Amino acid sequence: MRQSQLFTKTRKEAPKDEESKNAQLLIRAGYVDKLMAGAYTFLPLGFRVFKNIENIIREEMQALGAQEILMPSLQPKENWVATGRWDALDNLFRFTSHYSKNEYALGATHEEIISPLMKDFLFSYKDMPVGVFQIQNKFRDEKRAKSGLLRGREFFMKDLYSFHANEEDMDAYYLKVKDAYIRIFERAGLGDITYFTYASGGTFSKYSHEFQTLTDAGEDIIYICDHCKVAINDEIITEQSTCPECGNADLRKEKAVEVGNIFKLKTKYSSVFGLNYKDMENAECAVIMGCYGIGLNRLMGTIVEAYHDEYGIIWPESVAPYRVHLVNLHVHNEETSAFAEEIYAALQGAGVAVLYDDRREAGIGEKLKDSDLIGIPLRAIVSEKNGAQIEVKKRKESAAHMVTKEQLLGLLAANN
Ligand code: ATP
Ligand code: MG
Repeated sequence: MRQSQLFTKTRKEAPKDEESKNAQLLIRAGYVDKLMAGAYTFLPLGFRVFKNIENIIREEMQALGAQEILMPSLQPKENWVATGRWDALDNLFRFTSHYSKNEYALGATHEEIISPLMKDFLFSYKDMPVGVFQIQNKFRDEKRAKSGLLRGREFFMKDLYSFHANEEDMDAYYLKVKDAYIRIFERAGLGDITYFTYASGGTFSKYSHEFQTLTDAGEDIIYICDHCKVAINDEIITEQSTCPECGNADLRKEKAVEVGNIFKLKTKYSSVFGLNYKDMENAECAVIMGCYGIGLNRLMGTIVEAYHDEYGIIWPESVAPYRVHLVNLHVHNEETSAFAEEIYAALQGAGVAVLYDDRREAGIGEKLKDSDLIGIPLRAIVSEKNGAQIEVKKRKESAAHMVTKEQLLGLLAANN
């Protein structure tokens, strides 16, 4: 992509009302635009990051054998009244049609939709287990939406629901989802700072589990057991002050953000909607369910909170919008520009995703600043003084070195 063609521009300042670091950086670098508190547009660069995150999650869901669907955001009141959540869920957006006077909710989650949906398809124990997921926008009337992409009023969630004929089967599936989640956060670059965290299971199960990523921007507090590399959240620490795995009482208190959670619903929703199946003796039983969420916007915001410096974002390779930022510092020098064009063509030919700063009106200082702000993992500088050499530098490192065009291509082919 030629930066001269990118319609978005970097900005020196984020909007005054934007308090969060993740949104400040993402807005300044041109990844997102703020419509209002809790609602952001993904701009071309941000949409590429979003798609990378989405692909990681989708691949891991497919590896589980889960099947993808897409449910409506517009939902009838009746489904929410049935579970009591029309009144109980504080952050549910509710409204009335001007014509029919019917009342609707905007989907905050989809248990109320998927449970009756599956009644059309699940009849026998032979129809299970089955996992169904979607990657879809959710609406929540959040009281405070000041954490940028960490807490939106509209945001994307991957929600997976699983259906089982008995609890052992749900328990086994739950563990497989846990492993898939560990892989997702590892692949997204957050493996080292994300903790499997014990949370309250509600009235249905002893525990549910959250995946909590360490960051000062987080709104949650977790207590880490350094022996087991797990944590417990605020709800659990009020009931027990020791590690649920080893009993260690020496827990480390940290700020964190919940990037995902997994929950055993058992028959909570199936019993409300009469989602039943016939067991081996032909007896009618309520389907056992699990639900599993990951917030995509929140994941993007968390990565930015975890990986930035005073100059800008430092994307992990796996989610970066481009692999290489090719920067031509002397666009007006014909030889330098011809060389830059040659490298751009070669990288594209090799299938390397590259952002090419070919802007004619931007100065040297501006180009270097913008490159740091945008945070692509590898910067490759072409300039008058470098001649036929290219100065490469990793965004996360300070040392630069010179390579030839062939070496640059070799370098990128090597860690493909
Ligand atoms: P929180 O405790 O942070 O409010 P939650 O427990 O209500 O979140 P869930 O209903 O379990 O969240 O949603 C599943 C996932 O969706 C969360 O783990 C989180 O990653 C994401 N998520 C929840 N609320 C938001 C939001 N307002 N903005 C962005 N992501 C969100
Ligand atoms: Mg929570």
